[in-house]
Amino acid sequence: MNPERLLSSLNAAQQSAVTSAAPQTLVLAGAGSGKTRVLVHRIAWCLDTGLAAPGGILAVTFTNKAAAEMRGRIEALLARPVGGMWVGTFHSIAHRLLRAHWREAKLPEHFQIMDSDDQQRVVRRAIRALNLDEDAWPPKEAQWTINGWKDEGKRPDHIDIQGDATLKTLVDIYREYETAAARAGLVDFAELLLRAYELLRDTPGLLRHYQERFRHLLVDEFQDTNAIQYAWLRLLTGEQGDLFAVGDDDQSIYSWRGAQVENMQRFRKDYPRHALVRLEQNYRSTGNILNAANALIARNSSRLGKSLWTDGKSGELLKLYAAYNDLEEARFCVDRIKSWHHGGGRYDECAILYRVSAQSRVMEDALRQADVPYRVHGGFKFYERAEIKDALAYLRLAANRADDGAFERIVNVPTRGVGQRSLEDVRQAARRENVSLWEAAHRLCATKELGARAVNALKAFLELIARLAHDIVDQPLDAIIDTAVAHSGLVDHYKKEKGDRGLDRIENLEELVTAARDFTPDPDAPEIPLLSAFLSHAALEAGEGQAAADEDSVQLMTLHSAKGLEFPQIYLVGMEEGLFPHQRSSDDISRIEEERRLCYVGMTRAMQQLTLSYAESRRLHGSDYYPQPSRFLREIPREFIEEVRLGGRMATGAVPPRLEEDSGVGLKLGQRVLHKTFGEGVVLHFEGRGAQARVQVNFPGAGTKWLVAAYAGLEAV
Ligand code: ATP
Ligand code: MG
Repeated sequence: MNPERLLSSLNAAQQSAVTSAAPQTLVLAGAGSGKTRVLVHRIAWCLDTGLAAPGGILAVTFTNKAAAEMRGRIEALLARPVGGMWVGTFHSIAHRLLRAHWREAKLPEHFQIMDSDDQQRVVRRAIRALNLDEDAWPPKEAQWTINGWKDEGKRPDHIDIQGDATLKTLVDIYREYETAAARAGLVDFAELLLRAYELLRDTPGLLRHYQERFRHLLVDEFQDTNAIQYAWLRLLTGEQGDLFAVGDDDQSIYSWRGAQVENMQRFRKDYPRHALVRLEQNYRSTGNILNAANALIARNSSRLGKSLWTDGKSGELLKLYAAYNDLEEARFCVDRIKSWHHGGGRYDECAILYRVSAQSRVMEDALRQADVPYRVHGGFKFYERAEIKDALAYLRLAANRADDGAFERIVNVPTRGVGQRSLEDVRQAARRENVSLWEAAHRLCATKELGARAVNALKAFLELIARLAHDIVDQPLDAIIDTAVAHSGLVDHYKKEKGDRGLDRIENLEELVTAARDFTPDPDAPEIPLLSAFLSHAALEAGEGQAAADEDSVQLMTLHSAKGLEFPQIYLVGMEEGLFPHQRSSDDISRIEEERRLCYVGMTRAMQQLTLSYAESRRLHGSDYYPQPSRFLREIPREFIEEVRLGGRMATGAVPPRLEEDSGVGLKLGQRVLHKTFGEGVVLHFEGRGAQARVQVNFPGAGTKWLVAAYAGLEAV
């Protein structure tokens, strides 16, 4: 294709971005305005004009799926295969660098990636090793803190504890955890990024090499980069590199994982010669959907400010449905999807989006009952299932004997008589002698410290792994998995499990062999050994389990994983206070704003029809709730919404009473107020009007309170 034709399918602003001659370019634009399209065209244009060779391009996307799509789209535009580009997520790119330069990164050659569960286990061991009480130091929270530090680029030595005893203990845990992870050759997700950053920072020759190689860096969803990712990009861009970033501050939804929307302003300061391009035309959604979404997001403060319009049709109104309960909500969605299908629509044009992954189960049941095929993305993860992790742990240990996470996981699964007592002895020996659990077990077997039965059991395990390692040499990948499953005894183990669960697990193990057979490693990273590539894929991808990928099926996913995607039909379910906005966020105005951005992301996925629903009662995590409709429903102007009423059912007024921006008592959302007992606080929420108006205020000193506005005596400050 010639460059002219490449540009002809773009509007003028998009063209100026694609052909930008500035050393750095930031595209700041709202949902559906063609940011991703511009990024793809930019790559194709650079290749087509000879500005870049494929090997000079490094493109960062948000999911592995998006990376595969991007590669496909570039090749389609150029009508030829393109080898040699690096396209991937920050994590997969970091992983690739660390594999290639494990020595410089001070990692063992066969380091393994641990997922969040594995990491938590290692953190827990670190806490125990320090003789701390797990109740006082919950492993999950320590893990969260450690990852937060890593996301900011901090090692234990960098943390200023300022005499704070709590902080000091957390840093001790961090240090102990690092030692254990290093000993076991294990790398967690946050470590991948930090290590890759340090690798470039501390190895000038390598940095120069990659700076010269990757002259063109491109980043999609830039608003969700964290501090370490930004620092890494900045290093790699150096003085010469061309950095092309596209993003939308209104779609920043990962601040809870360290993402810093400030990186957009930082970019503008750090690269004074950059070009800023704004795109304002939305090509995705109908007028009603776009205007409703625009009105919602307009309620957030501190936005960079953008306008977004469409010249498409206004289309249908948004549909709002109030269900009796979650089951009925699910049936309602499935019925509508079925009639869409009967009318000639495809299932995969429909997506159901929800706030928390546990909501998928009820939807899945309803879809299964109605015989509608579906796929769950991101939530229920094939590679996170216990049986899959068990089987893979055998291979991890065979590949890397120092992998303590894998050792712990399978030393007694299936049961082989290694009791908790002997395992504790092994752990202690490992700590004492500063060796891996594997090595410690070996040494213990040679002493008289353990009883004869324990020694026999441990020895059997060690021999099993050694035999496995021997038997898989030079085998194809699926045979390797098959051998591991056979040696492990897992199939017999699960056969003993009651009901369908065991059979299910055995089927999953069979599915794993199939997955291995179908596995195609990244064609541009042939240097990574196949088994390592597969194990890393399992840890990184951790997902996309279900049915055949090419089968026409309804798409289910959390709002977070819907980012960047689009569907003709969107169902946004569970629009309830406590669920969405999530309970965790309801007493903090900045977190409410993040939830609102999440709602904006969800709404703007819709091309033709957007259906919103809530339930009057819901069973979740084993308890019953009777939630209020989400405030976001009231924040969407009524003129865009149509209530759906079914048959004889009297809706109880699907549109909840409208939230008044101004409650009639002169207070606004987000306003700072003073209360004579509780002190200063921020207005979070209103209900009702006039004498009935109640107002929710977050007082940093006293927590969140609902007050009757007429009596509270709140003063604006
Ligand atoms: P998001 O913020 O959700 O990631 P985005 O800004 O990346 O959205 P794209 O996904 O690139 O937007 O584009 C949205 C839709 O609009 C896509 O279907 C895309 O093909 C289409 N589109 C974008 N620009 C044009 C154009 N100039 N002409 C026709 N269609 C376009
Ligand atoms: Mg996009």
